[in-house]
Amino acid sequence: MAREKDIGRSELGDIARRSKHTVGLSPVGGAIQLEAVDLEKLAASLGTPVYVYSSAAIAEAYRSFKIAVGEDVSICYAVKANGNLSILAQLAQLGCGMDIVSGGELERALAVGVPPLRIIFSGVGKTREEIAWALDTGIHQFNVESASELDLIACVAEGRNVRAPVALRVNPDVDALSHSKISTGRKGDKFGIALEQATALYARVAASPFLEPVGLAVHIGSQVMHLEPYRRAYARIAGLTEELRATGLPVHRLDLGGGLGISYGHGTPPDLGSYAGVVRDTVGHLCAELTVEPGRRLVGEAGVLLTQVLYIKPAEDADIVVVDAGMNDLARPALYEALHPVTMLRPRGGPTRPCRIVGPVCESADAFGLYTHLPALMPGDRIAFLSAGAYGAAMASTYNARPLVAEVLVDGSRYAIIRRRQTVAEMMALEADSRWRDMKSNDDSDLGAVST
Ligand SMILES: *Cc1c(COP(=O)(O)O)cnc(C)c1O
Repeated sequence: MAREKDIGRSELGDIARRSKHTVGLSPVGGAIQLEAVDLEKLAASLGTPVYVYSSAAIAEAYRSFKIAVGEDVSICYAVKANGNLSILAQLAQLGCGMDIVSGGELERALAVGVPPLRIIFSGVGKTREEIAWALDTGIHQFNVESASELDLIACVAEGRNVRAPVALRVNPDVDALSHSKISTGRKGDKFGIALEQATALYARVAASPFLEPVGLAVHIGSQVMHLEPYRRAYARIAGLTEELRATGLPVHRLDLGGGLGISYGHGTPPDLGSYAGVVRDTVGHLCAELTVEPGRRLVGEAGVLLTQVLYIKPAEDADIVVVDAGMNDLARPALYEALHPVTMLRPRGGPTRPCRIVGPVCESADAFGLYTHLPALMPGDRIAFLSAGAYGAAMASTYNARPLVAEVLVDGSRYAIIRRRQTVAEMMALEADSRWRDMKSNDDSDLGAVST
């Protein structure tokens, strides 16, 4: 017994270090627990792959954000990071608003009881239907990304004889120094309105009887690990605010976006207090209503993806370890070259052996990365990808006819299955009614049915 413990010590130390990347995760007597739930037992009973989140970690992330930015700054959680209803409900209960990017996310936010006045509609491609629904719902604000979107919102608002509350999302031309696929604030990125065009466009908003100019918005990207890009972007927004106000235009609200990075095992994410300092320094003097839109920072470190080793393909430099989770379940490694920290759910000692962990999907991109801190893995071993609470389940697909995996929320020693695993039958049901329809029959009801 004692000997076994000795052997395992370095691995356990490693876990203690790694565990910091998932709040609430800790080694307890040779088992890895999320809060008070033994993840190996959970995985064995529910099957893998499965996402597991800590509700305490989510609450704590929200609280520390709120404390850092201050009571008077609204937090609108970016639903796209993880839109599971139970997670939205928990955040809504804590008083959090929501930043949505689609009608589907609006439906989700409303379903858990988020007051419409705490909902902000962002996104570069809102449809007429989505705009109409958001207007009828009475949301707080549209963050508008282009002149033509502005025209459409004005047109839909005119049809209802209402004024749509509009903030212009400005592209500050700042490099967030993140992965290029999650940078949004550089000239040439598809997001936002160029600074040079913002003044004229804002005047146009003010001149329309169907648009109400409420302020400006900015969001420079995601997994941002430095504060300098925020400082530069917010300073530009402050400058623009003063410029607009000088011409007599009202700028009451500033939406500062999200994007604060989390730990994926390398690099130190920006400290919330320092971020709040940047906010104060750059826009504090403007006396505007401030909103921030964190997504990843509220849920990313609160979740893990559990998976089981299926096969080992020995290789000279690093064994190939095939697990039952794939890029369809967790797309970030394939999409952004992200490397999620890994821990065994029953850590054991022995010499480390480098391995490449890969998924079962028929794509070379279905690879999670090279890991050097693990002992030789064996089929049946269960492992966890850490910091998988954001952009994990939310980005999952059914590629290779793989059902969407289950999601579980842990609270102390309790757990709830907050999404059950999809079945293949459910997947196939959408394809069941494939009879031919005649375009010449003028029967629109059939075509309409496709989109509903
Ligand atoms: C994605 C997004 C966010 C949240 O980004 P995180 O990196 O998850 O914090 C906030 N605002 C807008 C407009 C977004 O598109």
